Amino acid sequence: MQYISTRGGTLGQYCDVLLEGLAPNGGLAVPASLPQLSNEDLERLRSLSYAELATEVIGLFATDIPRDDLARLTEAAYGGGKFAADEIVPLNDIGEEMTLVGLSEGPTLAFKDMAMQFLGEALEYVLEKSDRVLNVLGATSGDTGSAAEHALRGRDRVSVFMLSPQGRMSAFQRAQMYSLQDENVHNIAVEGNFDDCQNLVKRLSSDLEFKRAHSLGAVNSINFGRISAQIAYYVWAWLRVTDALPASERAGFEVSFAVPSGNFGNILSGHYARSMGIPIRKLVLASNENNVLDEFFRTGHYRPRNAENTLATSSPSMDVSRASNLERFVFDLLGRDPKRTAASWHELEERDEINLSAELERFLPEFGLVSGTSTHDDRLATIRDFSAKSGVTLDPHTADGAKVARDHVEPGVPMLVLETAKPAKFADLITEALGVAIEPDADTQALLDAPQRVTKMPADEQQLRDYISERALHTSA
Ligand SMILES: *Cc1c(COP(=O)(O)O)cnc(C)c1O
Repeated sequence: MQYISTRGGTLGQYCDVLLEGLAPNGGLAVPASLPQLSNEDLERLRSLSYAELATEVIGLFATDIPRDDLARLTEAAYGGGKFAADEIVPLNDIGEEMTLVGLSEGPTLAFKDMAMQFLGEALEYVLEKSDRVLNVLGATSGDTGSAAEHALRGRDRVSVFMLSPQGRMSAFQRAQMYSLQDENVHNIAVEGNFDDCQNLVKRLSSDLEFKRAHSLGAVNSINFGRISAQIAYYVWAWLRVTDALPASERAGFEVSFAVPSGNFGNILSGHYARSMGIPIRKLVLASNENNVLDEFFRTGHYRPRNAENTLATSSPSMDVSRASNLERFVFDLLGRDPKRTAASWHELEERDEINLSAELERFLPEFGLVSGTSTHDDRLATIRDFSAKSGVTLDPHTADGAKVARDHVEPGVPMLVLETAKPAKFADLITEALGVAIEPDADTQALLDAPQRVTKMPADEQQLRDYISERALHTSA
């Protein structure tokens, strides 16, 4: 499988794009063509465990990794007791013809573990083969950083330098990251907000000499390894829903998915699953108050907002106003034409706005993508509703998904709501919604009480450079 840039040119194979999601011309890596899964293929996948299914799905994209090696990587990611549920991704009926797809059974209780656990294994594998090391530099406001650290902890060829805004994360999120005692995990609490953290990362990453000298890299949401691993759970969910049907009714049986969205990574994997032949009727994109994507899909105007105009909401992991993966979808919308995609993104860079209303009007129905917005009050009401009616507690992001899903439920079409985090991560909002304090369970309490390992630092570029220079891994040669 060859990879190309959304703005033109070829980029090599899967292992080549695993370390560099961004093409030199500014575009994003996408497969030259999407593999297809026929009805017979899907039936053959039905009896597989989650790890085995992941091997089959990721294997369609990672054709340069021998199958036995890939099977070892997925087994290490999904087979070894790192996920709370035996089936890795459990499905549960929550009423109103909706089913919750449990993507948050991993070590950090958010869906990012699904892809990051695999990426951790795959990175180590690629680095081993090429005798390289990687120092991951990132900024986090919560879920991404902890998922990355938990996937990369204790590895020989990777270290993590993760910047987080001092005092801006929940006690739970801080504990999840700072309690890690592994030598290769470096938590840096910056005196400032998330944008200060991100600006520091940008400045160091754009210094190509520093970047090369210290083998700096990223595992952010444009990483194609993550996108490919996420496709597996769309296939898994379809298989589990259709398990219940008579064999003769399975082929082509349609389901819809509701996806709480920020950087457009999760739902892009759904779009790819649908393009590969999974019978998905609708992909329901849910935004929070930072509804840049909902506005785009409803009006055709894409108007990313800057940091000052991005609200801090009660579904914080969706507080994104520039969706880094959208270019991959627009590439498909524009008939996979790299020239048109490049022209659109150059216009976006110049004017901070593009208008694709004509293209969306003509082609969006083919893609099955619909969207909606959920606000703080919607979130609270939805958490209350599902708690009262079905006894399940939704996390705030998942509640945004369920709220928007309601407007798109059709008779006879199961609506699968992706559970992108566990409510325990956002205890304050759950308390606000349900009017009762949720007591931390024993595991949570132990996590909160564990000793923490974090370096405090002013938002100072030179100090950060020195810190990394002293601690970055280097190839032994
Ligand atoms: C990251 C995240 C999202 C948004 O996912 P994208 O792939 O960025 O669209 C939604 N909910 C939670 C809990 C997350 O951590």
